[in-house]
Amino acid sequence: MRIDILTLFPEMFAPVLGASILKRAQDKGLASYHLHQLRDYTTDPHRKVDDRPFGGGPGMVLMCQPVLDAVAAIEAGDPQPATRILLAPTGQTFTQPLAEELSKLPRLLLIAGHYEGFDERIHQLLQPREISIGDYVLSGGEVPAMVVLDAVVRLIPGVLGDDLSAHGESFGQADATVQGGLEYPHYTRPREYAGLSVPEILLSGNHGAVEKWRREQAGKRTAERRPDLLKDG
Ligand code: SAM
Repeated sequence: MRIDILTLFPEMFAPVLGASILKRAQDKGLASYHLHQLRDYTTDPHRKVDDRPFGGGPGMVLMCQPVLDAVAAIEAGDPQPATRILLAPTGQTFTQPLAEELSKLPRLLLIAGHYEGFDERIHQLLQPREISIGDYVLSGGEVPAMVVLDAVVRLIPGVLGDDLSAHGESFGQADATVQGGLEYPHYTRPREYAGLSVPEILLSGNHGAVEKWRREQAGKRTAERRPDLLKDG
């Protein structure tokens, strides 16, 4: 998958793209990241990309010209059609099923906003998918772009060491142990710590019993903590 990122702060991405799973995905040739500085596309002699809002009010608004020209140039840089994703608090809430859907695409173009956001005509002309990472306001779209990137890239087949390790996770597609709700609890060595023991069933070697226990635990946790995720309420 090719991922283009249009941002005023490309330097924010280097540590995130250069470590852990995202780095491994690039090293394995399963993902490639291309950062683009929005200011490189403005025709303003002072590299300005924003201006005051018509009608008054606080803050600055990202102008059409730099964003539209940047998107055209970036898209022309590779023949694969890009799915445009604009990070915005007003967008569709990002979820695991949406991450799964995006992980199947060949190319994403993530557009990070700043200041008060984008001139409305950018939304109208680009017709991007608009994604919000939650009901709160961050100062820029860079962190939301990293959130989307991380959640999507780890789902590309072959990125995680064991292809199955993304299966059965919280919010994912239903499998034997997680029905689209929260995941069951995990334990590792030692068997006892600070007076707390690992549940006996996990030491039994009985795979069927372990799977049944995990399914029950996942259901119990989901009902207690996130009843909204249960299909029948
Ligand atoms: N004036 C906007 C509003 O009230 O909806 C907020 C703009 S915010 C300060 C600046 C930029 O940060 C946005 O253009 C967007 O790219 C990004 N951003 C902030 N919160 C976000 C969220 N929850 N999800 C996705 N992007 C977000």
